[in-house]
Amino acid sequence: MRRGTNLVAVGGFNQAVVLDLIRRAPEGLSRVELAHASGLSPQTVSNVARRLIDDGLVLEAGKQVNGRGKPRTILQLDAQGGFAIGVHLDPSLIAFVITDLDGAVVARRIQRTPVAASPTQVLDAMQTSIDELLADSPEVPRDRVLGVGIAAPGPIDRERGVIVNPPLLPGWDAVPLRDELARRLGVPVVLEKDVTAAAAAELWSATGHDGDDFAFFYYGSGVGLGIVLDHTVLRGASANVGDVGHTVVRAAGAGGVPCQCGMAGCLGVQTSPLRLVRQAAEEGVIGGPGGAGGAAGPGGADGVDGRADLDDLEDPETLFAAFRELADRVEQGDPRAQALFGALADDVATALVRFADLLDVDRIVCGGPFWEPVGRLMLGRVERAVRTSPALVTPHPVRIGSSAAGDDVTAIGAACQVLDALYSPRPANLLLAAGA
Ligand SMILES: [Zn+2]
Repeated sequence: MRRGTNLVAVGGFNQAVVLDLIRRAPEGLSRVELAHASGLSPQTVSNVARRLIDDGLVLEAGKQVNGRGKPRTILQLDAQGGFAIGVHLDPSLIAFVITDLDGAVVARRIQRTPVAASPTQVLDAMQTSIDELLADSPEVPRDRVLGVGIAAPGPIDRERGVIVNPPLLPGWDAVPLRDELARRLGVPVVLEKDVTAAAAAELWSATGHDGDDFAFFYYGSGVGLGIVLDHTVLRGASANVGDVGHTVVRAAGAGGVPCQCGMAGCLGVQTSPLRLVRQAAEEGVIGGPGGAGGAAGPGGADGVDGRADLDDLEDPETLFAAFRELADRVEQGDPRAQALFGALADDVATALVRFADLLDVDRIVCGGPFWEPVGRLMLGRVERAVRTSPALVTPHPVRIGSSAAGDDVTAIGAACQVLDALYSPRPANLLLAAGA
């Protein structure tokens, strides 16, 4: 475990530059090509390459013959030379992935967040899951794990590695999440806001110009926006960029719901899964016999009379099952369910137009735990509403799509924070958590 720490911390600027160049060249690069591309001296490249080979991050992959010159040895990334663990901590679920150096997922697990658990219980569950995941993955030796990235709902204090009083995770105020997990696992841990991690994962897998300028609309228990401009993930002054919940998307007279901020029609309340499900239950759209309780499975949300118990909706698992049931009703053609989702799609579209105008992005990726059940049903309507909106002033089309990384996107993004520290020459990213 020590070795991983040192790899990241000591590697430094030149190593990050060289390693990143090698990663982006699947065919591999020679030392001469690396010197040319990096601007480093041949001697420096040679020294860095030697260290990367010794550390098992890079391997020599054959010779390249160039005319009459001496054959050049090709250097390639050894994707199995190191691994990163990503954890997505959400009020309703905890997702874990292990990625190799190329960002490819080699192991994954999703579990429900223990209901009404204390932070210590959640930390225990995270530690146990990571231990079990590693035990089940013989191809991932523990001493090749470079670190753990955690993606969590904001606001976060990234400097201190703390989640700051998250409204959806009661009891988490000032829990030293990052340092405590680093102490338990013996590897560096980095904490990132969930929307930023999701955007980082999308950036990592983007090809061509798709990664240049885009926003990631995150639809979880709350909403958020991850932002990538000029191929760079934006974090803001306190790493809490993207709190868009109070963007007004609907007038009070046109169905805008009052918000605790004093306005009405804020994106957060309009799209709140809890609010939508409550309204659907009140209108009798869901919660009937065979309703949300059935979808939740054994021990799920069945009320005494077979309808979803409104009080139980505070439980993330019940809420998720009820939301899924609402999506099923839409698919079955229930007009009341379709009206609810239609309004939801319009509200999301109104917000996306604002974001596209504000940021001048030509692509918005949608994802997050609650997007998965509804994305398929809403994407067409959202896309149409954005395209035809009179408020869309950007002179270029804005493509709307669902995240290609699916359910794992935020956990993968968390792992990418560890990989970024390895590849990125930006000094700030070389500062992984102390405490390991
Ligand atoms: Zn508000």
